[in-house]
This record gives sequence, C-alpha cells and structure tokens, in this order.
Amino acid sequence: MSESTKYLLSEERLPKAWYNLAADLQAPAPPLHPATGQPLGPDDLAPLFPRGVIEQEMSTERWIDIPEPVREVYRLWRPSPLVRARRLEKALDTPAKIFFKYEGVSPAGSHKPNSAVAQAFYNKQEGVARLTTETGAGQWGSSLAFAGHLFGLAVEVYMVRISYNQKPYRRALMETYGATCIASPSPNTAAGRAVLERDPESNGSLGIAISEAVELAASRDDTRYALGSVLNHVCLHQTVIGEEAMLQMDMADAEPDIVIGCVGGGSNFAGMAFPYMREKLKGKAVRCIGVEPTSCPTLTKGPVAYDFGDTGKLTPLMRMYTLGSGFMPPGTHAGGLRYHGMAPMVTQAMEHGLMEARAYQQTECFAAAVEFARCEGIVPAPESSHAIKAAVDEALRCKAEGKAETILFNLSGHGHFDMQAYMDYFAGKMTDTPFDDAALDSSLATLPKVPEMAE
Ligand SMILES: *Cc1c(COP(=O)(O)O)cnc(C)c1O
Repeated sequence: MSESTKYLLSEERLPKAWYNLAADLQAPAPPLHPATGQPLGPDDLAPLFPRGVIEQEMSTERWIDIPEPVREVYRLWRPSPLVRARRLEKALDTPAKIFFKYEGVSPAGSHKPNSAVAQAFYNKQEGVARLTTETGAGQWGSSLAFAGHLFGLAVEVYMVRISYNQKPYRRALMETYGATCIASPSPNTAAGRAVLERDPESNGSLGIAISEAVELAASRDDTRYALGSVLNHVCLHQTVIGEEAMLQMDMADAEPDIVIGCVGGGSNFAGMAFPYMREKLKGKAVRCIGVEPTSCPTLTKGPVAYDFGDTGKLTPLMRMYTLGSGFMPPGTHAGGLRYHGMAPMVTQAMEHGLMEARAYQQTECFAAAVEFARCEGIVPAPESSHAIKAAVDEALRCKAEGKAETILFNLSGHGHFDMQAYMDYFAGKMTDTPFDDAALDSSLATLPKVPEMAE
C-alpha cells in the first residue's frame, strides 16, 4: 500500500450519509425575506425548492442519509480518487506529504454533480417536472443538465450571454445531456425583457440570469429552481468529498495537518473541510484554508452582513461575508470564484475560528497549475489552481521549516473546457488587475439595512 500513490475505496465504502456542520455550530442567523426583512419560514421557500431540499436547508441533524437512488448515480464516478502527489513533492523538494482528492472524474468534470444529482432526486420525488437554473461559465449548468436527465426532469439553463457566445463547448455539453440552454437576458421573462428594452445588446450577468430562472420557477407550478453553491443544502451534499477523503487517508495511513480548498460560493471547500472541522471541534489539530482570488476577495476583504444573493436583489437576504451584491469583480479566468458572497455556513466557520482564508493573483495560480500538470498529468480548472497554489506554498513553508507536515487539497475540477485560459497564460496575455478598494467601498455603502432584531 505504501508504494501506491492512488487510494480507491471499494464501492461499498461509498459514504451512506452527508455530514451537516450546522449540528455542531451555534444556531445560524435565519435568512430574511427580501421585501419585509422578516425571518423566512419553510413556506416562503416552497415556490422555489422541493420540501426535501427545504428541510435540509434548515436542518440541524448531524447526519442525513444519502438516498439509495442518489448513491446509485454517485457510483458512476464515486468514490473519487485520492492521490498522493509524489512527483510534485519531489519537484518542490519538500519533506511535506501532498495528497489531493480529484473531483474532475465526474461527468461534468467538477464537484458540482454531487449536489445536482441530489437536488434532481428530491425534485423528482415531489413530482416536479422541470428545473430552471442559471450558469456563468457553464459548470453548474452542465451538472444539472446531466442530473436532470437521469431523473427525467426537463432542465432550462439561463446562461450569461457573453459566456453563451464565448463558451460554445459548455453549451454543447448541456445540450448533449438534453437540457435547453438560453442566452440571458432572454425575451422569456419580465426580468429579461426589461433588460433587453434598455439594452438589446446586453452581455448579461449572473444576477440577471438568476432573476430569470427564479421568476420562471416561481410562476410555474410544475417548475422549481436549483442553485449550485452557497446554500446550506449544497454544502451538505458536497460533504461526500470529505467523508470519502477521511476513509482514503486512513488507507494511506496518513492524517492531514492542513486541508485546503478554493472558495467561490464555498461549496467544494465546505465539502472537503466540514468533516475535518467536526474533528477539529473534538480537539484534532488541523488547519483548514479557503483560497480565493485577490480580484474577488470575499473572505479576506469583505465584512459579514446581511445581503442579497443576486445583483437583481430578488433572493432572500443571507448573513454572510460579502463584497456587496452590486460588486462587479473584474473578468478573470476563474469564473466559478467570481461571486460576491460566501456560504453562510462557511461564514460561521470563519467566525468560529475553524478556518483561515487567503487570496492569490491569477497568474501565480496558473504558474502553480502548470507545474502541477507537468508533475501529475491533470490539467486543473482555473478555480482549482487557487487550491494548488496554497498547497505548494504550504509545502515550501514546510521545506523552509524542515517540517514533514501532511497537506490535503481538493482538486475541484479539470480544465479541459478552459484551455483558452491556458493559451492566454502561455501567450503572456494574462494580467493581474489591482484590486479597486474604492469600488468595494461604494458597493458596501449600498448594503441593505435590516431590522435590528435580525442581528
Ligand atoms: C463552481 C466551481 C468552483 C467554485 O464553487 P464553490 O461553490 O466555491 O465550490 C470551484 N471549482 C470548480 C471546478 C467549479 O466548477
């Protein structure tokens, strides 16, 4: 076993339950109604989500069984491999051990199907016929397209127009799985028509696409909405990653001192790190590090406040680290990390001192991604390269300090649909935009005011 670099569990050791960190934290601040500022109840969410999902969103049960039909689909690619990055260790000449959990083996090429499959299952169970969602670069859209098809649901994906035009291969992938992909803003919704009236050439934004998908789900009885990150139930579904990793680390006879993941809305990091935070709360010494881009520094520069989840200000208010719902991060290649907010549960984990955060520039992340690809063979997604950069830095610190620590990071996806980013990097066209503190200040000045009682 010790000579092997790859740790694969048998199918029977696929986890039977998701772990809910909410059971081990103080009661979370409730989401608030966007119009009244009052705490939301399950009924308020019913037009958007099925009961099974709403229950999980509000649950404080520690373990939630993974339904057998969901495990059945997970078996297509799970357990995902845990790999010892021996060649990277050698290249860095570090005494540290580096392990990564590879989520790029899923059908869509990232961790996102872990939640898409669960969400499709609960919707099907409650007789929903159609799901709407938004997608930026297309990773979530393709995950839901795949999951929806398996459970016989029609899937409509509102894709930000500029990506729709620039990323035809992700669009083709969604269509291959049977979904309908619509450029947003579209004439199908009031929200879309309003934008098009003002600007027929609009490039769209994630905020507009969310507004369109939510509007359609709320207005049709047979239709619900699905979100790919941020919410409690999404973080919950992703814990299958960390639970598997724990079993595989045992097989490798290793224990991580450091657990690392990149953070956009926070779900892949949550999935890897929350099970380790449970052990940390029981006294285990482990550092958990969330890594974000300096261009969208939610955890490292944002305050914790109640804010909207979308630019259109339609979603419930959530208490989270935020850059302000109107904050427009500059266009970088790690599209999945360009989100103004952070999962409320990751926010709580920061406040409890269960984790730390850091930010990197995109060019230094690509340098780490290229070194990783040349050692380990896998071309990482631009988002995942942030986790790699942090793992490399920790390994180099271990070298400088002469410490043989064990590092575990989540490789959240592959970069096969992102090769234009690598081409730009090799052509020297990739730049690091300095962060605009003034833009952040003016964005934060417009944070919504919430009633005192909510805080
Ligand atoms: C979407 C995405 C992310 C960011 O989302 P989280 O919810 O923060 O995990 C990270 N990596 C990949 C490959 C993604 O597709």
